[in-house]
Amino acid sequence: MSSRRSFFETMASLPLFASKSSAVKLKTPDYFKELGVKPFINAAGTYTTLTASLMSQETMDAMEYASKHFVNLMKLQDAVGAKIAGLCGSEAAMVTSGASGALTVGTAGCITGTDNKAILQLPDLTGLKNEVLVQKSHRYGYDHAVRACGVKMVEIETEEDFHRLAGPRTAMALFFNDNGAKGKIDSKGWVRLGKQHGIPTFNDASADALPVERLSLYTKMGFDLVTFSGGKGICAPQSTGFLLGRKDLIEAARLNTSPYSDSIARGMKVNKEEMVGALVALESYMKRDHEAVNKEWDRRVETIRKVAGKYPTVSSKVDVPEIANHTPHLKMSWDQSKIKLSPLDVKKILFESEPSIEVTPSTSKDELVVTVWMLKPGEAEVVARRIGEVLKAAVA
Ligand SMILES: *Cc1c(COP(=O)(O)O)cnc(C)c1O
Repeated sequence: MSSRRSFFETMASLPLFASKSSAVKLKTPDYFKELGVKPFINAAGTYTTLTASLMSQETMDAMEYASKHFVNLMKLQDAVGAKIAGLCGSEAAMVTSGASGALTVGTAGCITGTDNKAILQLPDLTGLKNEVLVQKSHRYGYDHAVRACGVKMVEIETEEDFHRLAGPRTAMALFFNDNGAKGKIDSKGWVRLGKQHGIPTFNDASADALPVERLSLYTKMGFDLVTFSGGKGICAPQSTGFLLGRKDLIEAARLNTSPYSDSIARGMKVNKEEMVGALVALESYMKRDHEAVNKEWDRRVETIRKVAGKYPTVSSKVDVPEIANHTPHLKMSWDQSKIKLSPLDVKKILFESEPSIEVTPSTSKDELVVTVWMLKPGEAEVVARRIGEVLKAAVA
């Protein structure tokens, strides 16, 4: 890194030295290049390890705006939460540190309510509610964020189990939206049982912000808490999530996190830039022309499908998962005696050559899988051309 240039940039970025009439407009350095970390075209999707989604200029501008002013953080939380609740038709809302952060602060809120003594005591649950009901088929890695509060997951399968095991020690009943069809109790049943026993129900719908109606669907259905990831389809800051739901529970959740220093989720801080950025991204996601976006995704899929289809034995299909990442997934396969590469070989070549392209991690030895929703304009053509070139070179 050139220390000279860095010095000048540092000076120019200090308020005292910044001036509108500054004659030299300094170019943004190529930070990733300097760090030796190579950017790629994202034909995979909103995977956290691949940095998930890109924020719009509007969102970046909002964050930059927020970064230039001091405000009272709690007042900002009040105002942003009220706006988000209005947009999503929920009683209350807050911006969290990702959907995972929402799972932790939501659970904490269900355990403690607004009882200050309980808030200070977490994760020691002596004398407090210490169980969370969950269907066996809804257990998943992210429930670690729930268990972080010290609770025990009580696995059930049937309605009868729910009736038998719900009790005074039950803090919450967790539902994993994407596994809705896998359990014996569906979302509506879960809500009904929760209400019957006076136990708050929490729906993790993190990857389900598409289609847009889903943002209000689950709270309307009666879930007491619902979370959506900010950094996935909504294209809010990567580190944000939305927790929607009952006013008393959101209030309790807020008391269990930053800025309160003696709280279990103090480390799950959300700053003002993220709060404003998340709100602006959500607004813009909700008012965008979803039909036009869907059409553009279909066009991109066709662009890639058409080029790949030129090569011997290549066949393809398009899947749109009903829940979780509700966007076209193009799945391509071929006779590997006619095209002498496996989809995993193609994945590797695409990533290692120039420009680097990531296809989805669900690509297998039989099937090459791409999504197009995280592509920038013009990139579908590049992905199509490169897949074509790689397949062509492998024709037996
Ligand atoms: C992605 C995801 C999360 C975590 O979301 P973050 O916003 O990255 O914290 C939690 N639950 C489910 C089901 C997810 O898909």
